[in-house]
Amino acid sequence: MDAETLSTVLLTIEDRRSWDAHAELGRSIELEQAANRLGDELLAARARLCQVNMRMRCGDVAAAAEQIWHVHQWAVEHDARQLLARTHLVWSAIHLHLGDAEQGLEHAVLAVELLDADSTEHMQIWHRTKLADALYFADDLETARVRYAQAEELALQLGSPALLCLLNNYAYVESSSGNKAHAVELAARLQQLSAEWDIPLEPAFLDTIGSIQVADGQFAAAERTIRLCLEQHAEGKWDDANDMAQYLVTLAQAQRGLGKFDEAQANLDEALRQCEERDLGESLVRMHQEQAELHAARGDFAAAFAAHKTFFEVYHQQQSLQREARARTRQAMFETAEARQEAERFREQARRDPLTGLHNRRFVDERLPGLIRTDPALTVALVDLDHFKQINDQLSHDVGDQVLVRVAQVLAREVAAACPEGFVARMGGEEFLVVLPGMPAPRATACLNGIRRTIRNQYWSPITRHLPVTVSIGVAASGDAPERAQAPLLSTADSHLYAAKHGGRDRVVSAADLRGYAGHASAA
Ligand code: GH3
Ligand code: MG
Ligand code: MG
Repeated sequence: MDAETLSTVLLTIEDRRSWDAHAELGRSIELEQAANRLGDELLAARARLCQVNMRMRCGDVAAAAEQIWHVHQWAVEHDARQLLARTHLVWSAIHLHLGDAEQGLEHAVLAVELLDADSTEHMQIWHRTKLADALYFADDLETARVRYAQAEELALQLGSPALLCLLNNYAYVESSSGNKAHAVELAARLQQLSAEWDIPLEPAFLDTIGSIQVADGQFAAAERTIRLCLEQHAEGKWDDANDMAQYLVTLAQAQRGLGKFDEAQANLDEALRQCEERDLGESLVRMHQEQAELHAARGDFAAAFAAHKTFFEVYHQQQSLQREARARTRQAMFETAEARQEAERFREQARRDPLTGLHNRRFVDERLPGLIRTDPALTVALVDLDHFKQINDQLSHDVGDQVLVRVAQVLAREVAAACPEGFVARMGGEEFLVVLPGMPAPRATACLNGIRRTIRNQYWSPITRHLPVTVSIGVAASGDAPERAQAPLLSTADSHLYAAKHGGRDRVVSAADLRGYAGHASAA
């Protein structure tokens, strides 16, 4: 499979709203392997985000939460904006799943903020819809309505089929909030659009509509809707086999309303069987609740009371299972975040010099090549302490260390003030590297001369008594070296440093000084 085909296949998973999560999880793992074979990191990361989404939908929220960190980090490091937008959307869903409405909302906001002209039409509508959903879960129905309306307007403009998903969610939210009239109106619009656009409604949408019709007392219509829902479900291309139990309960509700008690009971029996076979806690709660209603409708109040008791027990059992699962997942998320911070601390430490706290050579090796490639006005300088051996020998190694720390502080402070994008590193021993991006050689040389004087003029005698502390500095600008790479640039700086030592120390030498020196020499 080539990259373009792979991308298209991924898009069919990404730009969809309902899936057979178990099947799609397997498929997105295969797609990641295919992307790795192509060596395409972005495609692999997209496939991993699909896995995260499917893991969450399969109920393995802890695994989803762990994997999403890695995808997020990759997207940030590689500035992959669309992937990042999608990552925040999935993250929002994970938080909502864990009952954290605030975090859910925060991520949903980011998922919308990151949309741009490159985003797919589905993203444009769906991310806005999920933001509205998140607002509803955060108890802000008013703002949610504004957002649904905005998304709806956009979807109408674009003629996007994602409008169906939007209307489904909006209808569900209104019905859950008890706004029957509005829910009925939205459900009707959803059906009308599906007919107009000739796009069949998926089972989950039909279940939303059926439930709204039941609540509105339209039992015959509801029964028709759910029969259609079950037909679509049987085709198997839309949703998870686990969703069937929910649909059967909705069907039983409609049939109870129509007085078809035996049929309703048969559907509840089947729902119960599925719940037990597949361990579907949430559906089981709804099933027992409806069982109590059905017994009551038949006038069997003793059985209704018993079923209600069962419902109540199952409900609380389910609540505590969910609480435990959420606690476990939060713990897993917390541990991942801690491990990540630990790794970052280690990474950071590995790039610092323990004595002075400055960056070290490893940091330079990582950072400098990029600067050399991209910054034509880059200047670097090697700074070496003069006669440092004397300080060690005449005073002590410890005093030598104190001098190094003090010099490092001066360098760091002065460089930060003169060039905020610049940095200082300790290259080893008593040698430091100053990196000044965007600073051409003449200005850099003047600045380094200032730093040299500041070091000499420090109040050293409490530390070094009679011994002066001075530095020699060799400057190299991007254009000085024969080629634009780290080794020739540092080697140029080193030869200028050598010239500074040779010329008497406590001085700065750049290419311009050498040119002057050569001219002077030839004139002599
Ligand atoms: P020059 O002016 O030519 O640079 O003379 P110098 O004495 O500074 O140069 P040399 O390279 O001969 O000596 C550097 C000394 O720095 C030798 C080494 O013992 C000392 N040194 C290297 N690392 C450290 C350190 O971490 N702490 C201390 N106290 N001394 C160190
Ligand atoms: Mg030295
Ligand atoms: Mg040295």
